[in-house]
Amino acid sequence: MGPPTGAGPAISVGHLTKRFGGLVAVDDLSFDVGRGQIFGLLGSNGAGKTTTLKVLTGLLRPDSGRVRIDGVDVLRRPVEAKRRIGFLPEAPALYDQLTAREFLEMIGTLRSMEQARLDARIGELLEMMELSEFAKSNVGTFSRGMRQKLAFASAVLHSPAILVLDEPLSGLDPRFGKLFKDWIRGHAGGGGSVLMSTHVTSNAEEMCDRVAVIDRGRVLAAGPVRGVLEASGTKTLEDAFVALVGGSRWPRSPSSQRTR
Ligand code: ATP
Repeated sequence: MGPPTGAGPAISVGHLTKRFGGLVAVDDLSFDVGRGQIFGLLGSNGAGKTTTLKVLTGLLRPDSGRVRIDGVDVLRRPVEAKRRIGFLPEAPALYDQLTAREFLEMIGTLRSMEQARLDARIGELLEMMELSEFAKSNVGTFSRGMRQKLAFASAVLHSPAILVLDEPLSGLDPRFGKLFKDWIRGHAGGGGSVLMSTHVTSNAEEMCDRVAVIDRGRVLAAGPVRGVLEASGTKTLEDAFVALVGGSRWPRSPSSQRTR
């Protein structure tokens, strides 16, 4: 019997825990991402966002807990689960000696895409990313933003309904930042589901239907953005985040103490 599809949440995470030696990077984390929803994992550096996404995409084994993608258990049926998602990692491995086109062809072949569909998707995505004129350039010559765009193209190449995006806007100029945001919103508007990590509160506020604020692997607050603001008595997610996670432990800079 085939795995269940279309029913229940797109992503379901239950009591997930991941340790590295004595460090608990993800601590009893639970959340669901619904269909047509953009869910943001919001946290400081080292909060456990990337570790969570790596467990979700089968790159790391958790110590305990469960993850289901489209109803498929990632631990029990990793290949089946991975087929259903597009993953943009925090630091994508892009094979610098390949050209942009060769790289996407390799990813499409690994994804068992049919050749005509693969060719069409590569053309479409290179154009969308404004990389068509660099299709035959080695990826090693690409700028940070070009690498991010190529990595994003490789994540969505097989047209997955469920996207897992680790800091998707990192390295992009403002124009492409906006294009990515619009594209991600459009994907969710069409019924797709997106789980994204960010430490940029304004991005989460602008894009996400629901957020989970995490710190040291634990959920401090979760729900619709408005609910998190109301619960923390703040007007912006930035203020809510600081209230939840704690203010800066840095001393104030001399210039900020100067009176005018
Ligand atoms: P950032 O915003 O800086 O990318 P993050 O929220 O993605 O942070 P993680 O990368 O998940 O955080 O890291 C969570 C914690 O786990 C950190 O303390 C990190 O040092 C630790 N950690 C992550 N990967 C490993 C590893 N392979 N071995 C040991 N510790 C690790």
